[in-house]
Amino acid sequence: MLDRLPVLIDPVSFSERGKRLSGKIEINKLVRLSGLLLENAGVVDIDIAFEKEGRLSTIQGGLKANLKLECQSCLKEVTFSIDRDFKLGLVMSLEQADELASDCEPLILESEKISLNELIEDELLLALPDFPRHDYDCVDREEVLQTAEDDNNEQINPNNPFSVLAKLKNTGD
Ligand SMILES: [Zn+2]
Repeated sequence: MLDRLPVLIDPVSFSERGKRLSGKIEINKLVRLSGLLLENAGVVDIDIAFEKEGRLSTIQGGLKANLKLECQSCLKEVTFSIDRDFKLGLVMSLEQADELASDCEPLILESEKISLNELIEDELLLALPDFPRHDYDCVDREEVLQTAEDDNNEQINPNNPFSVLAKLKNTGD
């Protein structure tokens, strides 16, 4: 059985011990994120390592999740897969943040212990698209279906919305 993930982590101490955490976090435990989702079932898979680079403590690793968002084109559900790698440098101030290497995002520590869920939630929120959309032309497809329904209502074409097209093609030759 997997070890349970800790609720609070002490990232500086973890990095000194070279600790690694992997496991699953339930999406419905992430309140800010859940508010943006159509459905909050499922889990986030995380695998992160706490390390030292010289005097700098870092957290690096990855997270994976499938999130149910609302497509901004058709307002229906779209599944957005996140597979994000990140590297955070632990700093105490904005000045220290400015000194970090460019491959490292700053995580400003305001207390010794921080919430693992909030850390992961922040990374997920950063990975969300501003305008989630289906990767196909969902609105046009919607119109085709709507037209087909209209045809049905007029009883021109009771079964197959494409049979009209097929007929047109056949007689067009
Ligand atoms: Zn859509």
